Amino acid sequence: MDYMLGVDIGTTSTKSVLYDMKGQVIAYANAGYQLYQDVPDMAEEDPDDILDAVVEVMGQVIRKAKAQPDEIKGVSFSSAMHSLILMNQNDQPLTRAITWADNRAVKYSDELKANGVGAEIYAKTGTPIHPMAPLSKILWLRHERPDLFKQTKKFIDLKTYVFFKLFGVYKMEYSIASATGMFNIFQLDWEPQALELLQITKKQLPDLVEPTDSITGINQRYGDLLGISEATPFVFGASDGVLSNLGVNAIDPGVVAVTIGTSGAVRVVVDKPVVDPDGKLFCYALTKDKWVVGGPVNNGGIVFRWVKDQLFAPERITAEQMQISTYDILTQIAEKIPAGSDGLLFHPYLGGERAPIWDAYARGSYFGLTRKHTRAHMVRAALEGIVYNLYVVMLTIEKITGKPKQIQATGGFARSSLWRQMLADIFEQPVTIPESFESSCLGAAVLGMYALGYVDDLSAVKNMIGVTHVHQPNEKNFEVYRELLPIWIRLSEILEPEYKEIAEFQKKHSN
Ligand code: ADP
Repeated sequence: MDYMLGVDIGTTSTKSVLYDMKGQVIAYANAGYQLYQDVPDMAEEDPDDILDAVVEVMGQVIRKAKAQPDEIKGVSFSSAMHSLILMNQNDQPLTRAITWADNRAVKYSDELKANGVGAEIYAKTGTPIHPMAPLSKILWLRHERPDLFKQTKKFIDLKTYVFFKLFGVYKMEYSIASATGMFNIFQLDWEPQALELLQITKKQLPDLVEPTDSITGINQRYGDLLGISEATPFVFGASDGVLSNLGVNAIDPGVVAVTIGTSGAVRVVVDKPVVDPDGKLFCYALTKDKWVVGGPVNNGGIVFRWVKDQLFAPERITAEQMQISTYDILTQIAEKIPAGSDGLLFHPYLGGERAPIWDAYARGSYFGLTRKHTRAHMVRAALEGIVYNLYVVMLTIEKITGKPKQIQATGGFARSSLWRQMLADIFEQPVTIPESFESSCLGAAVLGMYALGYVDDLSAVKNMIGVTHVHQPNEKNFEVYRELLPIWIRLSEILEPEYKEIAEFQKKHSN
């Protein structure tokens, strides 16, 4: 048998899937690790925990499949974006991995936005100015941890760390680099203005490689531990977001990937790097000639979880007795309410928001309440509000890519047929739920097959995934949404200047 091994280094766990060359899953393994949150806004991981997890899950799938070293034709990697590790002169980490979810650099990203330098840098890097990105994080460390900053030989990310441990070189592929906020996406090189701002040199960053580049000669200790030959190529791969587009076959023009998991995202593949004049979209590399434009949202399924926990606690008991998910009961309740929730609107900004408004102070609200509205309206309006927000991200993307033709949707929301139909109705597009297990791992494996010449084209993924559900937009419903959307959007604009004040009140009065 010939196998390709996909590894996805995520924020809470690393997953590994061994595939045959037709994309069939042969074996799967997953290992979690701790997220350190010792102080407010911190979100760190221990890089050696990640390395251990990577080695553990790779070893597990190889053992489960009893794969021989010469049967593993390649290994290819996906990883979370925006992580930062400072390495000292002896190649030891000076910090843990500071993840995308770490917000401690917010003062510096706010400053970059206010003084206009952020917009100049965004126009060249395609990474929205935000504490998530290494650009803001390094600026923060330079000011607040000069002791660490001064000792730093290399600023790297988690995937670079893993490759360094396995192969002894510091190399970063374009995809992860394009999410640092320091990489010029038009010139495919580190951006001098960003480096000057940070007062660092190119030498302090990893060497750049293409996502399809590969390396052989794994450190013998790891090779023996894993049962992998020194000759096996490791493809550098790309980031989890762009590989998820590939893994759900959303790579053709007009095909949009929408994810509603705990958070959410809307992403479209284009063939050249592009930036948004308002700085609200990201543009990250998938390969040298495929780029992903999109927006990440904080408020996805986590908002449904809030509705479940805060407004429907009694239903949890019923659900337990019936041995079904409380979400399923809530979905049934919401189904009885007509599209548009009888004019009840909900802005889902319970956790501030990234795209489309990029406002950490944003707060949620119900609007249009009357005595006629019930809790059932409130749950339906919440599900609709989450989708309206994603639709507004889509409207921004559309300005660059044109109207979508088809949506490939993934994430926990897909368990609800009501929510899937809502996505089709609000976006006025057909929605397909692909059957692709661990889409970023599959994306990594397909990229690996392409890089190593086992498939001619990335579109080979088409034959590797199935379809679980298809929804067509319902005319009656989308007409209602067409009436409500302009009100929802206008309200967002009206509310936006008020968010900061209420957020500051909440902060001042919180214990
Ligand atoms: P993650 O993004 O953390 O990987 P998931 O993709 O599983 O997580 O998404 C989790 C979210 O999916 C939950 O917060 C919830 O909103 C939603 N969800 C889970 N189960 C259901 C269900 N049966 N019906 C509708 N939504 C669901």
